[in-house]
Amino acid sequence: MTLLTALSRSPDDCPDAVRVSGRSIPGTHLLESATAVADRVHGLDRVAVSAVASLETVVAIVGALLAGVTVVPVPPDSGPMERDHILRDSGAGAMLAAADERVDGGTLPVVPVSLRDRSTSHHREPDDERPALILYTSGTTGLPKGVLLSRRAIAACLDGLADAWSWTPDDRLVHGLPLFHVHGLVLGLLGPLRHGSRLDHVGVPRPERYAAADGTLLFGVPTVWSRIGSNPAAARALRGARLLVSGSAPLPPAVFERMWALSGHRVVERYGMTETLITVSARADGLREAGTVGLPLPGVRTRLVDEHGAAVASDGTGMGELLVRGPTLFSGYLNRPDADATTWTDDGWFRTGDIATIAPDGRHRIVGRASTDLIKSGGYRIGAGEVEDALLAHPAVREAAVVGSPHPDLGQQVVAYVVGDRVAESELISFVAGLLAVHKRPRRVHLVDELPRNALGKVQKSRLG
Ligand code: ATP
Ligand code: MG
Repeated sequence: MTLLTALSRSPDDCPDAVRVSGRSIPGTHLLESATAVADRVHGLDRVAVSAVASLETVVAIVGALLAGVTVVPVPPDSGPMERDHILRDSGAGAMLAAADERVDGGTLPVVPVSLRDRSTSHHREPDDERPALILYTSGTTGLPKGVLLSRRAIAACLDGLADAWSWTPDDRLVHGLPLFHVHGLVLGLLGPLRHGSRLDHVGVPRPERYAAADGTLLFGVPTVWSRIGSNPAAARALRGARLLVSGSAPLPPAVFERMWALSGHRVVERYGMTETLITVSARADGLREAGTVGLPLPGVRTRLVDEHGAAVASDGTGMGELLVRGPTLFSGYLNRPDADATTWTDDGWFRTGDIATIAPDGRHRIVGRASTDLIKSGGYRIGAGEVEDALLAHPAVREAAVVGSPHPDLGQQVVAYVVGDRVAESELISFVAGLLAVHKRPRRVHLVDELPRNALGKVQKSRLG
């Protein structure tokens, strides 16, 4: 099966309508405009697409995919360094952008995309192993890496999610996520195209826009659910929806509880990476519990190992690095043999770099990243997430990030950064000490105006501590 079967088999299989940032076109029109783009880029190997949230971006991406050309989305708000890195590293041969968009393609020729151009010529889709997308990782731990994603892997992921979330053509998907990461692009755009469901991309993820859009299926990063949870009218407006889904970063349990109380929905949390696509998710028809990301998707296998590669028991408490394998995995990094060499085990498992626990019934919990969220202090191993959850249980605390900072005696000490109402540092430290083992309490708590976050709302811990 090819990724775009739903689009190219027959116009009848297209979503009825795709709406982006307030403009809507019927699926058949989208397909014909995309075919006009395919006519123009046919024969190129890779194209960059200026990934503003617009219908032209959707047409450009679908057009390149129809022509079998690999798509490299470029974040529209990327600074010159990130943009140069992506354009140069990806080896794109042209840049696609809306005809009326002023875009800097560097040395690349810019191909204008217009909804007025339409074509009905037929393009043959390439084989399933050919990369459909090169997506760049978020750059949370270093320079973004180009990740090659085949049609087969994308299709496997989307079909696994349809199974987990009971996603059908009757769904109306609503979100306002960027169109250059897995979340907004693979799930949020290619998902509705594959499953034939309507899409309403609301431009930016404002609570009022989610509330007004009348979706059945809604996607958001935790910041989105936190903001909707702080806007009771918006949260209550979602009562008629079918499923709310969170991912890209941990969903704080307090946000889960507030959304449940206000909207009647237990938000479904899923876990993934650019390299692995989505591998683990709570199910629409299964248990949904705050702080857990659910079960592996069909065909995905997971296991936990310690620093020496020895197995860690799936008993719900043993923490280890999560290894994954299965049909959704990427084909390799672009131009990064160093990263390719270190992220796979000898026997073919992908090392996620994330620390997790797995309960005997298969439920996964993501504790944090091995590089920043496993704090080694005075001989103890402390998960930053556990300390963050304890801080978030205090009524004055709205956001919390915990890091290990170097300490001459302990190796690392637990340090917290907190956004919230004015409250004494000592009160928060003793509050945590009352909830957790005493060695897990922060030694310092800094009250800050905001936490450093990237476009997906991920806390950039390398900028703290
Ligand atoms: P880089 O690899 O460039 O440093 P990044 O890892 O942030 O950046 P992504 O591929 O966008 O780039 O993000 C994947 C990471 O996001 C995962 O490794 C995990 O740490 C985090 N993540 C995703 N979903 C969840 C979730 N539901 N709960 C906790 N963490 C999550
Ligand atoms: Mg990563």
